[in-house]
Amino acid sequence: MSSSFRSSAPRPYQSYVYAYPHKTAYRPFPEGGRPALSERWAGERKDALSLYLHIPFCEVRCGFCNLFTRIGAPDELTTRYLDALDRQGTAVRDALGDDEPVRFAAAAFGGGTPTFLTAGELDRLCDIAEKRMGADLRAVPLSVETSPATATADRLTVLVERGATRLSIGVQSFVDEEARAAVRPQRRADVESALARIRDARTPVLNIDLIYGIAGQTERTWRLSLDAALAWQPEELYLYPLYVRPLTGLGRAGETADRAWDAQRLRLYREGRDHLLSHGYEQVSMRMFRRSDAPPQGPDDYACQTDGMIGLGCGARSYTSTLHYSFDYAVDMREIRGIIDTYTATEDFSRAEVGREVDEDEARRRHLLQSLLRAEGMEVAGYRERFGRHPVEDFPSELDHFGSLGWLDESAGPDRLRLSADGLAYSDALGPELFSPAVRADMAAYELK
Ligand code: SF4
Repeated sequence: MSSSFRSSAPRPYQSYVYAYPHKTAYRPFPEGGRPALSERWAGERKDALSLYLHIPFCEVRCGFCNLFTRIGAPDELTTRYLDALDRQGTAVRDALGDDEPVRFAAAAFGGGTPTFLTAGELDRLCDIAEKRMGADLRAVPLSVETSPATATADRLTVLVERGATRLSIGVQSFVDEEARAAVRPQRRADVESALARIRDARTPVLNIDLIYGIAGQTERTWRLSLDAALAWQPEELYLYPLYVRPLTGLGRAGETADRAWDAQRLRLYREGRDHLLSHGYEQVSMRMFRRSDAPPQGPDDYACQTDGMIGLGCGARSYTSTLHYSFDYAVDMREIRGIIDTYTATEDFSRAEVGREVDEDEARRRHLLQSLLRAEGMEVAGYRERFGRHPVEDFPSELDHFGSLGWLDESAGPDRLRLSADGLAYSDALGPELFSPAVRADMAAYELK
């Protein structure tokens, strides 16, 4: 039996670590003590920044979703939102200054659903990225998230003309009953039409998101969704375990995770992984798979432990090497609406409002976490070059524990730390073990709203 089923093994689905520290460890800076962006960006490297524009609107709120987004956008809200993005972009670009070269190496529009915006509004969004921030969208990788209902030909045309190189669509399941069970009603025929429009748009990279662990999903129906996705030969596929999170639609429905559900998700994960590996895909991380012959997306695409992120919009994070910041965060719909309204009324974007200082200990954790969770693992030399020590000196008990659970690949040799197949499967249990005590305490004390 695989070690993953040993009773001593931690629960596999604890926390998806896509950014460290998590936003629930951010805190509002005190009035009068808000960091000035111009001071915090002074002296930072700015020649390979990432730009992220966040659009917090969706047509429906999926039952599993805890992202910062609201349904619909009444009363010219999208115009007010774009006006605010424009003001924020101007203020942030001013704060970056011109003493050193400012260059964006990658850009992304996420959400929510950026294509909730009309074609004309998307054009304006690109203008904000280019004219306010100075990003050359046609020269760098530009990733845009979309949904089946909003991936319309006019919107896709604008995005492709403006330089989109990657379109990512959340399908979740090609089985209509499963889509309903995950509180995301959609018809397969509409999904297939949207995929056809995306392929007609001819971006280099199509990504399809699928979810496993939905009520009623079986090995057979999971395989059906995988094969339906593979029929489009997507350059990338993300396979997400379903989470039931507090305050989301499914969370309110009272579903609880249990060991049987863990086992179902692990089974479907392995089934999905093996199926994709046997169909010409490589595993990049627990969730991400890339077609082996897919065009490269540039050197920066998954080097997410690097600093230098500019996020615009009320749900976007920004990172300097020592400060992570954003705006207020919520999952509950009413709270989100209030935060969006506050954002659209904001005139002064020159200071960080909510965030966390990142010291060297946190930077080490972040580097290890975000490298180790990639299938290729972490080069010890890169860590040593940045921090002057071997990771085993910094994280002896954690790495020892991972080793004892069979999560480290012994065959990786002394120059690389790499997860075993089981380690990758348990990424969402392993990641949280590397959180610092201070971040853990703040996350635990955070009152979800
Ligand atoms: S999963 Fe995507 S489409 Fe669904 S509510 Fe969340 S952001 Fe919107």
